[in-house]
Amino acid sequence: MHYSYCPVCGGALAPVRLPLGNTSGPDDLRACGSCGYEFWQNSKPCVSAVIVRADGQEQYILLTRRAIEPYRDCWDVPGGYLHNGEPPEQGLARELAEELSVPLLRPCLAAIEIDEYLRADVPREARFTFNVFYLCTLPADIEPKPADDVAEARWFPLSAVPSGLAFPSNNRVLARLRGRIGEYLGENRGTSGPSPFAAGGAGSSPPGGR
Ligand SMILES: [Zn+2]
Repeated sequence: MHYSYCPVCGGALAPVRLPLGNTSGPDDLRACGSCGYEFWQNSKPCVSAVIVRADGQEQYILLTRRAIEPYRDCWDVPGGYLHNGEPPEQGLARELAEELSVPLLRPCLAAIEIDEYLRADVPREARFTFNVFYLCTLPADIEPKPADDVAEARWFPLSAVPSGLAFPSNNRVLARLRGRIGEYLGENRGTSGPSPFAAGGAGSSPPGGR
């Protein structure tokens, strides 16, 4: 499936063949025969939050269980699509407020991945996502409150993260970030005065766990 009409003037869009050396092809670039506007079919921008905290010697990640397809009932990291023109950190703050009623704290750009939002009724050309991942954190006294597109939110020890998270990019990013999370939490501890992670005094039980 391709878009057929120019969003500027309504003229017919036709494939463009780019000069040799450019890897893009007629599948993702079409041009208007009337006004010359070039329309790119490219990946949709998304933002995701790898929310971590430390409690004693253990580090935890906040995962959400999906209430909707695709990957219904799989564990996921919070996030979603950016709105048109929306700055990534602002969009992630909006998503965290909508999904979990929590703030975006100390966001640190961590990874960028391409993935697919799998829906049988959407053609493959329109399913690709451009995923921007941020490491961020939450103090112990802020409890996530899941919205209706999230079935459940739970803190998992990094040593016991469920295998097979929703979306392949989440699994790749988490595998790559594991070595950086301790450093991230340590840096935050050092620069924030009293540690927010010590606030709960939760002993050995998972912070906010169920
Ligand atoms: Zn046009």
